[in-house]
Amino acid sequence: MTKFTRREVGFGLGAAVAGSTSAASFAIAQGAAKVVIIGGGPGGATVANQLKQGEPSLDVTLIEVSKVYTTCFFSNLYLGGFRSYASLQHNYDGLKKLGVKVVHAMATDVDTQAKQVKAGGRSYPYDRLVVAPGIDIKYNSIEGYSKQVAEIMPHAYLPGAQTQLLKRQLETMKNGGTVVMVAPNNPYRCPPGPYERACMIAHYLKTKKPKSKLVILDPKKAFSKQPVFQEAFGKYYKDIIELNLTNEIDDYAVTKIDAKTKTITTKAGKSWKADVANVIPQQRAGEIAHKIGLADGDWCPVNAENFTSTKVKEIYVLGDATVAAEMPKSAFSANSQAKVVANDILAALAKKPKFAPNFRNTCWSMVAPNDSVKIGAGYLPKGQKLDPVGPFVSKPGEDAALRKQTFEESIGWYDGIIADVFAKAPKKG
Ligand SMILES: Cc1cc2nc3c(=O)[nH]c(=O)nc-3n(C[C@H](O)[C@H](O)[C@H](O)COP(=O)(O)OP(=O)(O)OC[C@H]3O[C@@H](n4cnc5c(N)ncnc54)[C@H](O)[C@@H]3O)c2cc1C
Repeated sequence: MTKFTRREVGFGLGAAVAGSTSAASFAIAQGAAKVVIIGGGPGGATVANQLKQGEPSLDVTLIEVSKVYTTCFFSNLYLGGFRSYASLQHNYDGLKKLGVKVVHAMATDVDTQAKQVKAGGRSYPYDRLVVAPGIDIKYNSIEGYSKQVAEIMPHAYLPGAQTQLLKRQLETMKNGGTVVMVAPNNPYRCPPGPYERACMIAHYLKTKKPKSKLVILDPKKAFSKQPVFQEAFGKYYKDIIELNLTNEIDDYAVTKIDAKTKTITTKAGKSWKADVANVIPQQRAGEIAHKIGLADGDWCPVNAENFTSTKVKEIYVLGDATVAAEMPKSAFSANSQAKVVANDILAALAKKPKFAPNFRNTCWSMVAPNDSVKIGAGYLPKGQKLDPVGPFVSKPGEDAALRKQTFEESIGWYDGIIADVFAKAPKKG
C-alpha cells in the first residue's frame, strides 16, 4: 500500500506543511501524514473511523477525555424507562482495532504555528487538525444557576452523570410532585430534545406517579416538531404536561433560580416551586474551540463546503460546536459533517477522489410507546450556510402503524450510527 509521507503531503498542500518551516515542523517531517482529532463524539470519532477506513496508512490520533462515550441521543428513552443506561455507553475499542491512536486526555491548547496539540502533558503534531468538542453549558446564562447548582437542578444536557441524577430525582420524587423543565433559547443542542424529554418524563409520571405534573417554561414562541409534540401532549399527557410558551402577554424566559427553595422565576416575574427541576441553560462551543480562536461569539463559523474554520486556517471544526445553519445540532448532523471532513482530508492527504459535499439529518423523537415522530432534510452548502433540500416532518393524525414504523426506524438508526461512529460491528436482529 502506498504510504503518504509528511514530505509528500507538503508538496500537495503548499502552505499546509511546507509553509510551516519552523524547527518543530521540520523535526517531525518524516513518517505517515498525521491527523489529530479533538473530541470523540459522533463528529470526531466518525472522522477517525472514516480516515482509517479510507487510508489505513494515515497516522490518526483521537484525543478524547472520556474512556467511555455515553450518548445524549436516546438518553430521554432512558429517562422514560425504555432503555438501560448501559445501552447508551460505548468504548473506543473498535477504533483502536482499526489503528486509531486513542489518547484519553484533555486537549488543553493548540499551537497553530507549530501545529501541535497539547494534551495530558504531551504534544501531538499534526498535518491536519479536526476540532469536534461538542458543547459547554453557559451556567451564568441564568441568575442563580451554576455548576454546583446543576448538582441539585440538573440540566442533563451533557451525557452521563447528569442524566442519571435527573432519573434518580424523578424516582425519589413523591407522587403529586411538580417537575419544572426550563427550556433553552435557540440555538442549542438537539432542538426537539427538551420536548422528547417532556414526553418521556410525562410517560414515567403517568405510569408511576400519576398525580404529578410537568411544567415547561420556554423562552421561545415555537419549537421543532411543535404540532406533533403538542398532539402527543394532549393525547397522552393531558393532565400532566403544562406547556408555557412565550407569547405576546407573557415571557417565560427563566431569569432567576433559587436553588435553596427550588424556586424558578421567569422574566415576567412569575414563579414556580419545583420538586424536581430540569434546567437547560444556554450553550456554546466546547472550551477548546474558544481557546484556539475558532469561535465568533458562542459558536464556530465554518465554510459549509468542507467545515474548515473561517477563523483559523487549516483547522476543521464540526458537530455541535459549529454554526451550521440550517443544519440542527444533532448526532446525525455531526456524523454527516464528519464524512465530508474525512473526504476532504483524504483528498488532500491521500489523493483520494473528492465527492461533492452532501449533508443529511433526521431527528427522531419518541413521544409514547411505539409512537415516534421525525423531522429531516438534505443540505447543500452555500457559503457559510447549508440550504435544506427536500425537508420532511411527521404530521399530526398519522396512523399508529406509521408511528410504530418511525419508532422502529429510530432504533435502527441508533444501532447504525453507533457502528458508523465507533467502528463497531452492527447489531444483528
Ligand atoms: C437529551 C438529548 C437528546 C438527543 N437526541 C438526539 C437524537 O435523537 N438524534 C441526534 O441526532 N442527536 C441527538 N442529540 C444531540 C447529540 O447528542 C449531539 O448533537 C451530538 O452528541 C454532537 O456530537 P459532537 O461530536 O459534536 O459532540 P459531543 O457528542 O459532545 O462529543 C464531543 C466529545 O469531545 C470531548 N471533548 C470536548 N473537549 C475536549 C477536549 N478539550 N479534549 C478532549 N476531549 C474533549 C467530549 O468529552 C465529548 O466526548 C441529543 C442531545 C440531547 C442532549
